[in-house]
Amino acid sequence: MGLETYRSKRDFDITPEPERDRYAQRSKDRLFVVQKHAASHLHYDLRLEIDGVLKSWAVPKGPSLDPRDKRLAIQVEDHPLSYADFEGMIPAGQYGAGAVIIWDKGTWTPLRGLDDYQRGRLTFQLHGEKLRGAFTLVRMGSDSSNKNWLLMKQSDEFARSESVVERSPASIASGMQIEELIAQNRSLARRRKDKSRQ
Ligand code: MN
Repeated sequence: MGLETYRSKRDFDITPEPERDRYAQRSKDRLFVVQKHAASHLHYDLRLEIDGVLKSWAVPKGPSLDPRDKRLAIQVEDHPLSYADFEGMIPAGQYGAGAVIIWDKGTWTPLRGLDDYQRGRLTFQLHGEKLRGAFTLVRMGSDSSNKNWLLMKQSDEFARSESVVERSPASIASGMQIEELIAQNRSLARRRKDKSRQ
């Protein structure tokens, strides 16, 4: 997929999101991040480093540690690796406008092979602060262009029945709740407006 779609959707003179990759090369550990994104609909973006980009899925209900849950994960455009550091506000009128916090981040290990991604079935271990243990991402149906996947926790010692998104809502980077980021931004915007009136 590359990053053409990512770039074509955004105006980098306006959005603070990264335009290109600041990382010349990565360590052998593969990066993963889950960003909580209060866009028109609140969702969680799961991103896994594959082939030098962050393959990305929007998960409306967020990840679950309960193996009984099947979470819809809609594949979206690849993002640059440096997107994993992005936390902030995407300005109104821009693609995905709204607040983004780094909900979890760490590394991941494929449990079978990376070929499984092409085949639409990825089994992997997450090494995050909130998400740990084995997960499966499975593309729905037989059509390889299908954007709908399912994200499931596998049964292991990291499985939990309580909701991890409810129990641990804050950013692992700033400790901020997404509501705090939104409120902070509102008061900043208000102050700027007041200043411009003087
Ligand atoms: Mn998103």
